[in-house]
Amino acid sequence: MINIVLFGKPGSGKGTQAEFIKKKYELIHISTGYIFRQNIENETGLGKLAQTYMNKGELVPDNVTIEMLKAEVENNLNVKGFLFDGFPRTAEQAKSLDNYLEQKKMNIDLTIAIEVEDDLLIKRILNRGLTSGRKDDKDEIKIKNRFEEYNNKTSLLEEYYKKQNKFRIVDGIGSIDQVTERLYKVIDVLIK
Ligand code: AMP
Repeated sequence: MINIVLFGKPGSGKGTQAEFIKKKYELIHISTGYIFRQNIENETGLGKLAQTYMNKGELVPDNVTIEMLKAEVENNLNVKGFLFDGFPRTAEQAKSLDNYLEQKKMNIDLTIAIEVEDDLLIKRILNRGLTSGRKDDKDEIKIKNRFEEYNNKTSLLEEYYKKQNKFRIVDGIGSIDQVTERLYKVIDVLIK
């Protein structure tokens, strides 16, 4: 089994790259942002709660997000592995994930941060906002707030996973194919 976490600020290409990685390595792709958006679309209680945070570019509270993530893993046991996209995003989430996986006799093998500079990310997200229908993609203030959440709460996870020797950085600038190849190289080392 291989379990991988994809890090990267909004717009860094996590979702796009996850599509390729999940196919190549036959992993179950879990995107917490996507699950929240589905809940919003279906007007569930979880969706209504998440929406108030997402619309401001803030993180959804840990307890809600962690429970949702566990339920998703629970529904997919006995698979080749998971590709976590957008989770964990806080120290609390990372610890809960480790504890939970340990209970299931699983663990995170590798975390990869896709790095792109902020100016380019803003351009990419505003461009995506023209078609994505996402309110949090349309407004530069909300986008900057998402970056701030990343800088304040998520970037410190780099240290957490570095200590476990599980953290790698991939340059996210270039064509989609180029970035995919860089990611494959990092993952292939793991499975050989
Ligand atoms: P994403 O699709 O990953 O860009 O996520 C969109 C939004 O969903 C984020 O800005 C947060 O409001 C929320 N979200 C997604 N994943 C998490 C998480 N792990 N913890 C808290 N909020 C999250």
